[in-house]
Amino acid sequence: MHSLSSEDFYERARLFHGCASPGLMLGASMVDLALHSLGRTQQYDALCETSRCLPDAVQLLTPCTAGNGRLHIVELGRFALCLYHQVSGKGVRVYLDHAKTTGWPNLNRWARGVWTGSEKDIVRLEREIRHAGISVLSARSILIQDTFLHRQKQEPGVACISCGELHPASMGPQCRACQGRSPYIPRLPAEISSFFR
Ligand SMILES: [Zn+2]
Repeated sequence: MHSLSSEDFYERARLFHGCASPGLMLGASMVDLALHSLGRTQQYDALCETSRCLPDAVQLLTPCTAGNGRLHIVELGRFALCLYHQVSGKGVRVYLDHAKTTGWPNLNRWARGVWTGSEKDIVRLEREIRHAGISVLSARSILIQDTFLHRQKQEPGVACISCGELHPASMGPQCRACQGRSPYIPRLPAEISSFFR
């Protein structure tokens, strides 16, 4: 189990995440359950199946961060996370089990994405999450695919034939940005390009 009291967790959540959001509170229970199921090992990585809230619960409560390479985010759109052994790939996946939320009306609507809470409802939702604890979660053993474990290793970089920047050789001669996956507009409007002159 993580070593923070719930008061400490709420304070750190506010500082780190902006607020102790419902997703972060649920995420804390999910991390607790996963850590408890994983046993004593310190050699684990974390994987979140959504970028929503869960990565911050992992970063607040475990040594796995996006920056140290031990937190992986794979956008599967599911409110689930797993902790797994770095070498064997054996681990535990914990998810919000919506079938178990039927007794918690606010949590059930929140989980289904149809919750439009008033301030009163937010208080009710937070109370439901606290009282429900791990009873709305399910866990199962998982084994990470070899290709995914392998992909995390450092690999040689090559210069992109279009932009010249280094990128992993496995992505091909062009970097992903030059393959059309850049989030940036190719030609900046004049008023923006003047920023950094
Ligand atoms: Zn490029």
